[in-house]
Amino acid sequence: MAEKVLIIGAGISGLSAGCYLQMNGFETAIYEMHSLPGGLCTSWIKDGYKIDGCIHWLVGTKPGTGFYNLWNELIDMKSLIITDHEIFFRCEDSAGNFINFYNNIDQLENELLAKAPEDIAVINDYIHAVRKFSRMNLPVPKPRELFTLRDAFSSLRIMGPYLPAIKKWTNVSIADFASRCKNPLLRKTIENLFVPEMSVVFAMITTAWMNNKDAGYPIGGSLEFAKKIEETYLRSGGQIYYRNKVDKIIVESVNGKSKASGIITSEGKVEKADYIISAADGNFTLNELLEGKFTDQKISKFYKKSLPFSSYLQLSLGVDRKLISEVPSLIIPLSKRVYIDPSNTINEIKIRIHNFDPTLAPDGKTLISAMILTREDEYWTNLRTDNFEGYKKEKKRIISEVIAGAEHRLGPLQSHLEMSDLSTPATVIRYTNNWKGSFEGWVITPETGLKQLPVTLPDLNNFYMTGQWVAPGGGLPTVMMSARGVSQIICKKSKKKFITS
Ligand SMILES: Cc1cc2nc3c(=O)[nH]c(=O)nc-3n(C[C@H](O)[C@H](O)[C@H](O)COP(=O)(O)OP(=O)(O)OC[C@H]3O[C@@H](n4cnc5c(N)ncnc54)[C@H](O)[C@@H]3O)c2cc1C
Repeated sequence: MAEKVLIIGAGISGLSAGCYLQMNGFETAIYEMHSLPGGLCTSWIKDGYKIDGCIHWLVGTKPGTGFYNLWNELIDMKSLIITDHEIFFRCEDSAGNFINFYNNIDQLENELLAKAPEDIAVINDYIHAVRKFSRMNLPVPKPRELFTLRDAFSSLRIMGPYLPAIKKWTNVSIADFASRCKNPLLRKTIENLFVPEMSVVFAMITTAWMNNKDAGYPIGGSLEFAKKIEETYLRSGGQIYYRNKVDKIIVESVNGKSKASGIITSEGKVEKADYIISAADGNFTLNELLEGKFTDQKISKFYKKSLPFSSYLQLSLGVDRKLISEVPSLIIPLSKRVYIDPSNTINEIKIRIHNFDPTLAPDGKTLISAMILTREDEYWTNLRTDNFEGYKKEKKRIISEVIAGAEHRLGPLQSHLEMSDLSTPATVIRYTNNWKGSFEGWVITPETGLKQLPVTLPDLNNFYMTGQWVAPGGGLPTVMMSARGVSQIICKKSKKKFITS
């Protein structure tokens, strides 16, 4: 009889783990608290518009690259329609100056040198690193736990030429790198490459992927992408129980050793299995599902000292006019500052104009969205719980003030408004259960470096963790690889040769 694996969470990691284990002859079931697959990788429909809640870029969209081949194990990549943007984003100031952050490295170099010649040294550092990383094709991943001496040598041979640059730029944050710029607009542009605390190496590697056209956008959006993996999983015989929140992991003592042996849902359903994987939030898994009993000092220290990605508000507008924009994403100054919450008042906003995906808005109309980062998850959760009317009023106020502040640049919005939506950190927590409403797990910073978290826990057998809380840096390919790695480890434990079809 096939060994049974229960997976908690149908985000991209949980679904990927399910697919790989089904391929390898396990009987699996996924328990998901929401009614949909994808977790953070989601979209939702409102008033005739499809609001996309995740993919800005998907690494692995160029046929033949390492990540493409991995995604292709899960879905038919040829079935995706990919669009590659010419410009990553445009950064504007109130005087009408702008920098286009081109995805092509030669165009980018010309643009940066033309707009900020005084920063030639910083520009050369960035461009030189991107050109180097553009030649890098990451080796087929194997989890650290299964690394042999031969694997270590082979990956050293492939990665060796890049290691000094990786090490150098891992030690510098985006904020520190940007602070070297004399030109204020270039400084702002670099600060907005990703979150400021993150090691600049990730911005450089992302630009390299864009330059190689290996980080495109799949038409149809995030939920469609997640549904493709769900489809593979269901077709292979896997089962998903939606609207089933897991409350506890059952732990038994076998010969004096603790062993995970099942789950209990909030409805009281009990299911037993040979292996349990949590692809859900890390903090909830350790402290609620396992009641803090299997967390050692190393893990506690990591959770205390490391920086999670922040939470965010997502503002989405549907307007019944075509907004002509040559860039998919731009940072614009607002004509008036907008108070968001106790830690954030904004005077500019990074918006996406989703013209590149015709499936998101009806013909002749435009979907606009903006992601406003915040660490005020408690403020938003408390406001929603204690004063729901006040919460709704605040959301309305923010929408109308942002619209008023952006019209000087985008033209009339309010008079063309058909749809508006504002999700808050409270929304992210309600729908995905992510700690502090984080959008991507752990930030890799110069302080944490490339430190990894274990996928198993001390003194608990037959239990594994996967997803953005054990794979620092987060993001879709990372969480998929994390699931692939855990599946390889389980196969090894079950004395099966890992296969991927
Ligand atoms: C706005 C935004 C933009 C992003 N842009 C990009 C991008 O452009 N490119 C990119 O690569 N990445 C991007 N990311 C990051 C990426 O989406 C995440 O890192 C990734 O989806 C995380 O996947 P996961 O499976 O690890 O976790 P999650 O997506 O959080 O999945 C966990 C799942 O577990 C479920 N769950 C939690 N607790 C329980 C429980 N107790 N019982 C049952 N189910 C439970 C949740 O409902 C959820 O479905 C973005 C994220 C956001 C929010």
